[in-house]
Amino acid sequence: MAERLLYEGKAKKVFTTDEEGVLLHRFKDDATAFNAKKRGSWAGKGRANAAISAAVFEYLEANGIPTHFIERVDETTLKTRRLEMLPVEVIVRNVAAGSLARLIGYEEGTELKAPIVELCYKDDALGDPMLNWYHFRELGVSDADLEFCEELGLRVNGLLWPFFDERGIVLVDFKIEVGRDAGGTLMLADEISPDTCRFWDKTSGEKLDKDRFRRDLGGVEEAYEDMLRRVTG
Ligand code: UDP
Repeated sequence: MAERLLYEGKAKKVFTTDEEGVLLHRFKDDATAFNAKKRGSWAGKGRANAAISAAVFEYLEANGIPTHFIERVDETTLKTRRLEMLPVEVIVRNVAAGSLARLIGYEEGTELKAPIVELCYKDDALGDPMLNWYHFRELGVSDADLEFCEELGLRVNGLLWPFFDERGIVLVDFKIEVGRDAGGTLMLADEISPDTCRFWDKTSGEKLDKDRFRRDLGGVEEAYEDMLRRVTG
């Protein structure tokens, strides 16, 4: 199958294939944080993120969530439907951490009364700012698309919370992205992995996600392997 590089991101390369409307997402071992100001890399990261994403997408599909996922083709590569991405990052939170803790003055680890959804504008130059619906309308994102993003975020959260709870993990927060296929159908895209979620061990509180890299906590490789084992059994 002829592959052509379409786009290279911080943690993934995306290729077109001979198949119309189908892409390959190849997960790299590279990591970045703080808008790419911090960089790193470790063996097995791409494999762990590809396998975790594939398992999570399969579970969500089986529970009625439309996703771009088609199949995992090798250790680090997923086959996906080609989408036109919305310029939106949808963040859903169950426990205060990171930027929300700073925003509303909560101590990290405070449980929220109800899940909080945030919509951020996907623009590296601006640092992915959180915007409201007025800003998004100005930027050409429709109310219907924003409503889909918020509802999808909450539905995904409702499914992922028990999925991770059963595996001894508190799903603190996560980020998803949404795209539209050629037929106009909106669906979940991108990845769901320790790069894009905060996972805390239910009993020890240990962080098992990219915060180990962001905050130089050590043991990042082991944390991703632990999450891989818990998700894929
Ligand atoms: N997140 C992400 N990509 C981004 C920004 C955030 O995947 O560009 C995820 C992050 O891993 C966490 C959640 O979204 O699970 C909330 O991140 P937060 O806004 O707290 O960002 P931080 O303060 O860590 O930069």
